[in-house]
Amino acid sequence: MHELSIAYNLVEIAGEAAREAGATHIDVVHLRVGALSGVVKEALLFGYEIATADTILAGSRLEIEEVPVVVYCPTCDAEHALPDLQEFACPVCGTPTSNIVQGKELQLVSLEYED
Ligand SMILES: [Zn+2]
Repeated sequence: MHELSIAYNLVEIAGEAAREAGATHIDVVHLRVGALSGVVKEALLFGYEIATADTILAGSRLEIEEVPVVVYCPTCDAEHALPDLQEFACPVCGTPTSNIVQGKELQLVSLEYED
């Protein structure tokens, strides 16, 4: 499962950040996941449960913020959110664009913990 390896990776990065912060227990991990990242949210949450076992992150909650896809349109000279991932064209003027500004991220945003 693709998401399980992502979860292990995430645990490694978050665990490192937690140790650097001197935290001994993490409550919540905030993650941004783009619509184009290829990550299935439910699968990642499931993988997270497995990957966090016996780590500093055991028992913590994974909060996933889903990030919509935003493209840059050269005709409008503006950025627009894509309503439909089947079609990479400007939703305002219809110009085809593959200039993706946002939506591929898989990014650890922050950790919540008590000292
Ligand atoms: Zn446009």
